[in-house]
Amino acid sequence: MLNKEIHDAINAQINAEMWSAYLYLSMSMDAENKGYKGVANWFYIQYREELDHARIFMNYLNSRDAKVELSAIEAVPTTWESVLQMFRETLAHEQKVTAMINAIGMLAHDENDFATANRMTWFIDEQVEEEESAREMVASAEAVEGNKYGMYMLDKELGGRTYNTPSPLAAE
Ligand code: MG
Repeated sequence: MLNKEIHDAINAQINAEMWSAYLYLSMSMDAENKGYKGVANWFYIQYREELDHARIFMNYLNSRDAKVELSAIEAVPTTWESVLQMFRETLAHEQKVTAMINAIGMLAHDENDFATANRMTWFIDEQVEEEESAREMVASAEAVEGNKYGMYMLDKELGGRTYNTPSPLAAE
């Protein structure tokens, strides 16, 4: 049986992943509204990945015969002053998520729950990638700040981002 503290932490993490999805969906809609279709595409894929993260946790709870409990998703901001601001917020947010993921990993170790610890290693690796890609996006947006042509080219490039099913779901 799954330890109650771990069960509660994963249910809270499902809510946090749904909030992340909602945040990136809102950024996608704001980018689209501002005329940046490529940036909107980048954030829409980010939104889908967050839904996947929530799904992976839900599958995990189900596989441990632990009930998934969905709670209200808090409101997210709806406008950002610039694309650079969106990416800066993305990086700061992912750093917070990393801390939450690490806390669940630590809890699993403390409770000798090796199955949860194993599941968390995928998320720990995923967070390294999330932070790296957010850092790269901040650097790209900083490089073109105030340059309309540069922003046009960056937007075109981000329009090429494609969605990939994460391995824990692809293996299903
Ligand atoms: Mg996530």
